[in-house]
Amino acid sequence: MPELPEVEVTRRGVAPHVEGRMVSGVVLRHTGLRWPFPPQLPEILAGHTVRGTARRGKYLLILFEHGTLIVHLGMSGHLRVLPHDTPPKKHDHFDLQLGEQVLRLSDPRRFGAVLWHAVEEGDIGNHLLLRGLGIEPLGEAFDGEWLYRQTRNRTAAIKQVLLAGDIVVGVGNIYASESLFRACINPKTPAHRIGLVRYERLALAIREILAAAIEQGGSSLRDFIGVNGQSGYFQQNYFTYARTGEPCRICNTPIRQIVQGQRSTFYCPNCQK
Ligand SMILES: [Zn+2]
Repeated sequence: MPELPEVEVTRRGVAPHVEGRMVSGVVLRHTGLRWPFPPQLPEILAGHTVRGTARRGKYLLILFEHGTLIVHLGMSGHLRVLPHDTPPKKHDHFDLQLGEQVLRLSDPRRFGAVLWHAVEEGDIGNHLLLRGLGIEPLGEAFDGEWLYRQTRNRTAAIKQVLLAGDIVVGVGNIYASESLFRACINPKTPAHRIGLVRYERLALAIREILAAAIEQGGSSLRDFIGVNGQSGYFQQNYFTYARTGEPCRICNTPIRQIVQGQRSTFYCPNCQK
């Protein structure tokens, strides 16, 4: 499933191909994904120029002067920039045509989204899908003190608090396990029991791990935009994730797998206290 780093790498990959380009057409090959496509999208966007791109959590934002196109990759979505005459494949449900090129969304499981937020509807940050989101983990406001202050009344396990996304976005299942390992924090620890110093370690770990994932993804950037590109999503050399029973890379203790909130958590019972 695309996580924050994949979405950010996608944004950086497509940005030079869409920013400053005029939309020549929109093709909807399905009624919608997780939600219906706005049926007026072709009329709304044709003739308008892309002013920029942005990302909020796992939402990719394509900015126009009269509104914002919100794109979510769901469980299995991919965006690619292709020559405009590339024949669509089975799961290619949405095209943003930009003259000689097309920005094409493929989404086999159709859990993604393409939505429109007009300027008249107010600030994009207040959109129903965006307003409950926590702060950006790579933004300036995110640090150990933020985590500490926001968790004083949270008795749930720290792993689940991170996944909830209302304090900080983008720390999905993989990155939560990996960050807690790097910060030496047991994923079962109640969030309100963790002190400021340990949260400072955790915030740093989250920043470093996400930044490394984005950097690594950048090296496979062409896969996002090539006609024959592979999925473009990248596997890091994980310390805990999906390594059940394998020796910890630090202390050789077998990595343990537990279930928290119906999601698998991986951790080292020796390194993480
Ligand atoms: Zn260990």
